[in-house]
Amino acid sequence: MAEQPSKRIIPVTDQRSGSLGVPATALNAQALLPASGLLQDARGRVLRDLRISVTDRCNFRCSYCMPKDVFTKDYPYLPHSSLLTFEEITRIARQFVAHGVTKIRLTGGEPLLRKNLEILIEQLSALRTPDGNALDLTLTTNGSLLTRKAEALRAAGLKRLTVSLDGLDDAVFRAMNDVDFPVRDVLDGIEAAQTAGLGPIKVNMVVKRGTNDQQILPMARHFKGSGIVLRFIEYMDVGATNGWRMDDVLPSADVIRLLQQELPLIPLEASQPGETAQRWGYADASGQHDKAAGEIGVISSVTQAFCSDCNRARMSTEGQLYLCLFASQGYNLRDLVRGDHSDEEIASAIAHIWQGRKDRYSELRSAEGPAPAGSGKRRVEMSYIGG
Ligand code: SAM
Ligand code: SF4
Ligand code: SF4
Repeated sequence: MAEQPSKRIIPVTDQRSGSLGVPATALNAQALLPASGLLQDARGRVLRDLRISVTDRCNFRCSYCMPKDVFTKDYPYLPHSSLLTFEEITRIARQFVAHGVTKIRLTGGEPLLRKNLEILIEQLSALRTPDGNALDLTLTTNGSLLTRKAEALRAAGLKRLTVSLDGLDDAVFRAMNDVDFPVRDVLDGIEAAQTAGLGPIKVNMVVKRGTNDQQILPMARHFKGSGIVLRFIEYMDVGATNGWRMDDVLPSADVIRLLQQELPLIPLEASQPGETAQRWGYADASGQHDKAAGEIGVISSVTQAFCSDCNRARMSTEGQLYLCLFASQGYNLRDLVRGDHSDEEIASAIAHIWQGRKDRYSELRSAEGPAPAGSGKRRVEMSYIGG
């Protein structure tokens, strides 16, 4: 019987250990797995979505992601030479697309801090699926640089984007980003994105109980009827630096209950398999979905795990492949693109890695409770791997 591929690939344990590398010899020793447009993991989950982090730096210090006391100016951010070049990213992305990825999201850190990002967007937007279709190419940003960049992003081929915004009240927002960044500038950025023709635009709000939960209703009122889909995200225990506590999580069910008191909602069908958000539509007087008023979403990563159809892979800024947001180890694709390896070998390595995937952290967390901070393996930071 063939040996399990997952046993033969040696994962990397620390993103900054300096010993990055899935040994190419181990990969070459395996049967070459060509891309067929359909790749299933060990739990039958099909690979469809690739999130690519283009920088580990950010101009915000959201306490749930890059707390100021950890991410100081002396923090060991990755040197430029560690980062994948745009050509390397595109070459790897092409192999993922050959395996059936139809959606690529650029993230970070703050992706708009990566110089000349438009060039990468141009390259990625030229990729085609095995059926000849364009990709669903998108980006998640804190919106701080959007006023300046929206036009260029659109011109480069970006179709839509997601903006993170944790409140409308200026004082609350400045405290959430922890660099005193004004909310007005993000709202202007969203407007600039709309004017540039980027759409549909989504707005993500991470809800932290006792910190910005009083912003739920103002945010919903503001975006209702705007064509923008607001999504409330449960605060997650991702990484090891944010001091996460279950008490800080406001369950999505509570968010919906709160909204229902003023803005009646009805549940909507998922628009595609593997969708992270549960959709709710604003109801009209007869209880039907009022399409002009639009919809909201809730992403219940903590209280309602959705691992069973998780179709997402994540690639870090330096080309490590992570199979789960909560993984403590990655697989080094950078050594493959920088070594003497053909596209077929890179595609085959991706196939072996994905086929061995069993990750389902959130389901286990629901069953067993979160691992206490500092216990077990060190988990990768959100700013390194991207959301
Ligand atoms: N800087 C960009 C931004 O904020 O949109 C992109 C990267 S950020 C890591 C991606 C998404 O992850 C953001 O929507 C952010 O709010 C979310 N995020 C970060 N830390 C989180 C946490 N602990 N729980 C839930 N969402 C989190
Ligand atoms: Fe930066 Fe985004 Fe993390 Fe906030 S959530 S610190 S904007 S990377
Ligand atoms: Fe996917 Fe991991 Fe999140 Fe589960 S915990 S939905 S496997 S990323």
